[in-house]
Amino acid sequence: MPIDPTQPYDDSNIFAKILREEIPSQKVYEDEWAYAFHDINPQASVHILVIPKGRYVSWDDFSEKASAEEIAGFVRAVGHVARDKGLVVRGYRAMANVGRNGGQEVPHLHVHIFGGQPLGPMIVGA
Ligand code: AMP
Repeated sequence: MPIDPTQPYDDSNIFAKILREEIPSQKVYEDEWAYAFHDINPQASVHILVIPKGRYVSWDDFSEKASAEEIAGFVRAVGHVARDKGLVVRGYRAMANVGRNGGQEVPHLHVHIFGGQPLGPMIVGA
């Protein structure tokens, strides 16, 4: 079910539970600002999710309310993970779904990193 990105942050969401280590995840990277782990249902041979440690519902919420430090730390973490996984030379896709039209299902900002293969058109059917 798509989420409503205008709702307040809900601490019971699944990625909040991953950050609190209440449910397991396959960790890829962690620093002060971000946590990265393998997507449970990969859509490409590499499919990693990077989430901020702060309580942000979506890219919209984050881009409006996060501090400059949080934004820099998070964006650098996304770049670091892709670089560290050797995705840069062949290329990769970084994507954040927002709300209903974006198909966002978890109400904690996450950037998908897809790679390891040609990724095809940006929008299905395009
Ligand atoms: P989105 O549709 O952009 O909200 O993406 C949510 C993503 O979270 C999907 O790709 C799911 O496969 C992934 N996901 C959901 N639950 C988990 C989990 N427990 N561990 C890892 N990935 C998950």
